[in-house]
Amino acid sequence: MRGLRAQAIHGDCHAHNLLVDSAAGAVCGVLDFGDMIHAPLILEPAVAMSELLTEGLTTPDELAAILEGYTLVQPVEPAEVAVLFDLVTARHAVTILLHAWRSQHDRGGARVLEHAAGYAARSLDLLLGMGRAQLTQEWHDAAGTSALDDAPVDLGRRHRLMGAGVELFYEQPLHLVRGEGVWLFDPQGRKYLDVYNNVPHVGHSHPTVVRAIQRQTAILATHTRYLHETILDYAEELTARCPTHLDACIFVNSGSEANDVAWRMAQFATGHQGAMIMAHAYHGITDAVAAFTPGAGQPQDPRVVTLAPPPAALTASDSMDAADLAAVADDAEIAVRTLAARGFAPAAFFIDSALTSSGIYDPPPIWLATAVARLRAAGSLIVGDEVQYGLGRSGSHFWGYERRGLSPDIMTLGKPIGNGYPMGVVIANRRLIEAFQTRFGFFSTFGGNPVAAVAGLAVLHVLDREQLVANARTTGDYLRQRLRAIAAQHECLGQVRGAGLLVGLEVLGPDVHTAKVRTTQIVNRLASRDRVLIGSEGPMANILKLRPPMPFRREHADVLVEAISAAVSAVGLRPG
Ligand code: PMP
Repeated sequence: MRGLRAQAIHGDCHAHNLLVDSAAGAVCGVLDFGDMIHAPLILEPAVAMSELLTEGLTTPDELAAILEGYTLVQPVEPAEVAVLFDLVTARHAVTILLHAWRSQHDRGGARVLEHAAGYAARSLDLLLGMGRAQLTQEWHDAAGTSALDDAPVDLGRRHRLMGAGVELFYEQPLHLVRGEGVWLFDPQGRKYLDVYNNVPHVGHSHPTVVRAIQRQTAILATHTRYLHETILDYAEELTARCPTHLDACIFVNSGSEANDVAWRMAQFATGHQGAMIMAHAYHGITDAVAAFTPGAGQPQDPRVVTLAPPPAALTASDSMDAADLAAVADDAEIAVRTLAARGFAPAAFFIDSALTSSGIYDPPPIWLATAVARLRAAGSLIVGDEVQYGLGRSGSHFWGYERRGLSPDIMTLGKPIGNGYPMGVVIANRRLIEAFQTRFGFFSTFGGNPVAAVAGLAVLHVLDREQLVANARTTGDYLRQRLRAIAAQHECLGQVRGAGLLVGLEVLGPDVHTAKVRTTQIVNRLASRDRVLIGSEGPMANILKLRPPMPFRREHADVLVEAISAAVSAVGLRPG
């Protein structure tokens, strides 16, 4: 029941609570709001259906007509129809039980229910006689939900309308219709533990964020060419959490756009045209940004060079010896020279401080400081791409770059900041932003609109109020500790990487192909058998990627670890 849509309902919708205009033959009023309650929406037709039976005004085989009438005004979901039989029969059972109790303790009360209890017993017999399966199917037909009930999402239709190349997760694609906290629900009402999605940062459909968006969209949704204080409140709250030199914002609509703007700003500020990125980095989809996203299908851009990822076993608190640091400095040096040989100097080094798509690493500050010193000496700005690690996901710091000891010149935000409301932000020094505005002008129609601003503010407030950064730390530590324990027992598990609620679990095999196949098998088994949703990551696609919404708790970690342990035992036994 918790998985169903809920709202204020009348709660007692039967014939005695309706006024009918007999001349017009229409209902003209509703009485008795004493039973109003915030409850699953489907209880409304369920009460009406069972009461009309109890009052003897209808028969079980006419119930579909009541539901059909209701859905003409208020469509219902398959998962709601799936529980109707239980709700209608339970209501009758309660009437019978109440009558039985009153017969012993409250004679007067029993007499009031006499008639209803008789009908209830007869109706219950009839309902049970017709059976749950038959009635539920009739009700699905009446509500127009039967086509969705068991059918997989229509792949042919999807391909026709969106192109066959549109990506889908999992061997058995999932059809999801609702989310709440760390849970997702399919049309049958089955729930899935979400250990993958970082956009619903404070939890799917968080009521505070939903209410903020609903309220604002009902009042005003314009753009930044008018004065509006909410976007200023948001900019103020964001920059208050940044180093002092990052004091002004440009608002856009996605992480890609934020990186695109950062790239233009860096070129403008330095007069250079070269970009440095980490090997296998992902920064987005615009033409310019796809050029430094190796996996985006763009041809290699001569203006872009990559740096090697850090040694995998390093953690943020490790030190590095002189030889390892010299290798890092050399790598940066080679990158600068390679660009120079192609006629470019570096404008920007873009780094996702979680190194997510490179394989999820957690290197110490000295690793990054060594590379960055060389790149800055060549005139490069540093862009901290916080699309993945921002807003406390590391559990130790609000911004991921703080965990790396880095102070970027420009930072970019996306994904989690609106909890699902599309939004991106570029934060930099006001002087740089003003120079950029003077040179190019800048306006994004939707960027920084009042609805986005309230969504962003609500996310920051919920993060603080529910202490979700601290939760990322404690739950993340607990999860990694439990994963290390199972990794020690399974030959095909390797390193447990990451910090906070971004965790990578390495899957091993006799060769790279087998490791990748095992990873895919684990991910698919978890989704279809255990209803636990995770992903895979890394250049060899052999890292299990665990990146849940931030309200992910110990009990969720336990469900995840048990499922992974069983899945690993199963696939580890199979030949690759
Ligand atoms: N930067 C990083 C580090 C990302 O992970 C992503 C998205 N996966 C982006 C930028 C692009 O964000 P968007 O998809 O919102 O354009």
